[in-house]
Amino acid sequence: MSNISDLKPKVSIIGAGNVGMRYAYALMIGGVVRQMVIVDLDRKKTEGEVMDLSHGAPYISPVEIISGDYADIKDSDLVVITAGKKQAQGQSRIDLAKDNARLYKTIISQVMRYAPSAIFLIVTNPVDVLSYAALKFSGKSYTEVIGSGTVLDSARFRTLLGRHCGIDPRNIHAYILGEHGDTEFAAWSNAMIGGVLLKEYCAACDDKHACDNEKGLNQIFEDVRDSAYKIIGLKGETSYGIGLALVRITQAIIKNENAILPVSSLTQGYLGVNDVYLSLPAVINKKGIREVLQLTLNAREQKEFRKSSAAIKRVIKELGLL
Ligand code: NAD
Repeated sequence: MSNISDLKPKVSIIGAGNVGMRYAYALMIGGVVRQMVIVDLDRKKTEGEVMDLSHGAPYISPVEIISGDYADIKDSDLVVITAGKKQAQGQSRIDLAKDNARLYKTIISQVMRYAPSAIFLIVTNPVDVLSYAALKFSGKSYTEVIGSGTVLDSARFRTLLGRHCGIDPRNIHAYILGEHGDTEFAAWSNAMIGGVLLKEYCAACDDKHACDNEKGLNQIFEDVRDSAYKIIGLKGETSYGIGLALVRITQAIIKNENAILPVSSLTQGYLGVNDVYLSLPAVINKKGIREVLQLTLNAREQKEFRKSSAAIKRVIKELGLL
């Protein structure tokens, strides 16, 4: 009989709410891991979630799922933190950041106690601020503390562009960069369809009146930027898209893929911006961030990136982290 502590790869999830459980469900279906530990303040609900999810294993993958304490996360390859509060009606982002940074102080010290060598994947919002807080609280190398960043936003962008152009979104390379939030921007100058720059694709498109070029494309970006607000307005939370985006990042780490994804990482000198977590395409493998690509942005996009930096720095300064 195998010892459960030997089962690898092992991923631990801190926070068994909507996002944590959608991620766990998608991870199980993806067959990426052999063991999952789920830790949440609400032990009773988490036990129910784990029982429910485990019962699907015979039809999917032989994954062991445990509703555990921090001690159970020992030897995890990856710890994914989705615990925390959501923005309450009327609450400012800075107040949310303060609340979640307070929770992170305890969570990160527990995770460091039991799984100090794991890669940390931060999901709680505001994700760029909380990733920076996790870096400071843990004292780990920046290569091992990754924010989910604009991986979800870029998936939304590719989905809407694909729908608009009638192209499979998997053949579209296009990024939303900067903050995961209000100051994020579309890197239009680098957007490509099957290796053709989007602006060249648009110029040759038979149907060019359909999107009215810049105006139509900008509407796509606005729909991407505002989609979280829209989904929350319709159903109260967002969780399926982020759950699948987290599985994609997990695969890149666990399978040592050297995949390029627009995660949030510590910016060090790009466009003169330093010491802040923002999203740029980065090469991800089992050690975390291998390198951050030095993308060439046009003047307008460079300005947007600096605007994101200023917005996040304001918050981390107010929290006393900078
Ligand atoms: P939720 O309220 O459903 O779940 C949060 C869970 O965290 C709850 O189960 C709660 O018991 C648990 N929790 C709170 N404090 C804890 C602690 N100290 N230790 C352990 N568990 C604790 O919320 P949700 O919908 O799952 O969202 C979670 C977070 O993810 C939010 O901050 C949300 O804004 C964020 N989110 C991020 C993205 C992204 O792209 N980065 C996308 C969607 C949601």
